[in-house]
Amino acid sequence: MAGEPQADCLFCKIVAGEVPATIVRETATTVAFRDINPQAPTHVLIIPKVHHPDAAALAAAEPQVVADILCEARKVAAEDGVEDTGYRVVFNTGSGAGQTVFHAHLHVLGGRGLQWPPG
Ligand code: IMP
Repeated sequence: MAGEPQADCLFCKIVAGEVPATIVRETATTVAFRDINPQAPTHVLIIPKVHHPDAAALAAAEPQVVADILCEARKVAAEDGVEDTGYRVVFNTGSGAGQTVFHAHLHVLGGRGLQWPPG
């Protein structure tokens, strides 16, 4: 059922505390943790506690949680000291865009110069 935890989902396991993660923030609806393979000095993933496969599905089902994630991104950036220098937020959506974990997640990247367009 949409939104329910999935037994085979890595990020559902992080939400449940079954897989360790370096958690930097948590709210009633979201968890933020450091990416295991960071692409910048700040590389944090913000995920909904509910399971939806990507940002589009999350937005369709629970748009308020998308807003919660974006509000958390600003707090993560501020706490990591990258708010003033600039940071990037990215929802890879679909394998063609580089998505590899199919539980919606927002990347927060900062702490170095970021090129545009991304690869
Ligand atoms: P995607 O490619 O947009 O789906 O991003 C998935 C991200 O999850 C990648 O940047 C991975 O490095 C990251 N990742 C995969 N497994 C873990 C983990 O166990 N802890 C933290 N990050 C992870």
